[in-house]
Amino acid sequence: MSEETTPRVELAAPDIARWRTGNTGVAYVHSFEGPRPGPHVLITGLVHGNEICGAIAIDRLLSDRLRPARGRLSLAFVNVAAYERFDPAEPTASRFVDEDFNRLWSPGVLDGPRSSAELNRARELRPLVASADLLLDIHSLQQGADAMLLCGPLEKGRSLARQVGAPAMVVADSGHAAGTRLRDYAGFADPKSARNALLVECGQHWRTGSETVALETAVRFLAASGTIEAPTAQTHGAYGTDAPPPPQRLIEVSEAVTVRSEDFAFEEAYRGFEVIPKAGTVIARDGPRAIATPYDNCVLVMPSLRLKPGQTAVRLGRQIP
Ligand SMILES: [Zn+2]
Repeated sequence: MSEETTPRVELAAPDIARWRTGNTGVAYVHSFEGPRPGPHVLITGLVHGNEICGAIAIDRLLSDRLRPARGRLSLAFVNVAAYERFDPAEPTASRFVDEDFNRLWSPGVLDGPRSSAELNRARELRPLVASADLLLDIHSLQQGADAMLLCGPLEKGRSLARQVGAPAMVVADSGHAAGTRLRDYAGFADPKSARNALLVECGQHWRTGSETVALETAVRFLAASGTIEAPTAQTHGAYGTDAPPPPQRLIEVSEAVTVRSEDFAFEEAYRGFEVIPKAGTVIARDGPRAIATPYDNCVLVMPSLRLKPGQTAVRLGRQIP
């Protein structure tokens, strides 16, 4: 990203060093058992080291000493090594140290021979992730203000998104050609498993407001899973207004456009959720390849600014009535 297009960093990255020791034997992981039985709910932030809102939300939940009424609640700061390098003067640089943590979550990669800062951390966290019944993974976006839940391709993900109730935009998608997301690990992506996961994109990385979305979604998620009771949810930042949240809109992604050449460019500066009325409209050029919308009223989801070969440039989807 050029300096002109890098948004200003409005949020302050919290000092999370006091949470290093945790209580699980794994650095930056805290886990609490409730008095009654219930699911193991895991909330993760900082899967990408420059997505501050997740750090703020988890820091708040720990500071507020939120404890589960049922089951087990685990809170994890994930890619702390990348986060420790966060520099407001160069905020895009600390997404990861060696590689994208959110493309490593297949057995072939986790059990493979490679090693990297992110793979080592993923292997450290794998038993925790494997023991979670429900996962909320908190992220933010390069651009665009609209927060969204990514519920994966299965009906169980859509159902969980409806139970959480906000943010208003819900995107059903299958992830990236470049590798498997944490959200799609093992049972989370198995229709026969009861395990379930959502990823929330809380708005632009460093803009004020994304931290509120992160906290509200986390608390709503905990209320939806029965981990906490509604009054507790209210005191911890969910349901900030008495008005019910706006009805959710579901976008079903039909395909992800993966960059093939070194010379990829969008036709316009898309920000996300544009609806392209006519099928066959060219939205990007990838070297000699023209990329056109495959159907009428095609919705552009999360157009990327990282347009390198193998990366997802944009997802294409339909709004489901
Ligand atoms: Zn992210």
